[in-house]
Amino acid sequence: MGTYENWRKSRLATKKVKAGQIELGSSDFGTYTVTNLDTGEDILIQTDFDFPSVASVFGWSPKMVQKDFAKEIEKKAWDDGLTAEQEANAIAEAEANFVPCEHPNTDGTVDCNVCGVTTGEFIEGATKYLDDHIGEITEDPGYFGVE
Ligand SMILES: [Zn+2]
Repeated sequence: MGTYENWRKSRLATKKVKAGQIELGSSDFGTYTVTNLDTGEDILIQTDFDFPSVASVFGWSPKMVQKDFAKEIEKKAWDDGLTAEQEANAIAEAEANFVPCEHPNTDGTVDCNVCGVTTGEFIEGATKYLDDHIGEITEDPGYFGVE
């Protein structure tokens, strides 16, 4: 009676729509938590290589991260001595011809071998997505498996 744990369980129960749901939370030092809304049990997600899979549970997809061609063209502009106008034209052309990559061989934890988006870029995208979706609730895909 009157303990934080009890309070927390009843508070979680008010958020729960049905059994087997989890909530995304944030914790210290850029870590995240996945909370079992049935029991109040938390899992701490602290390895950034785990962020893409956690983000995917909450609706993220590696496809949301695409090649940053503007950055690439900027580098090329430096290397090749393009004028600002040539650079702008090159970016406009790249945008017009851009076809989003499906990243068929990666879940965000390895580089895409088709378009070259790196693991770091996927993790950065997943991290931003997690930050934007704190407090969201979804069905547990198996973090708190049935024993
Ligand atoms: Zn790709």
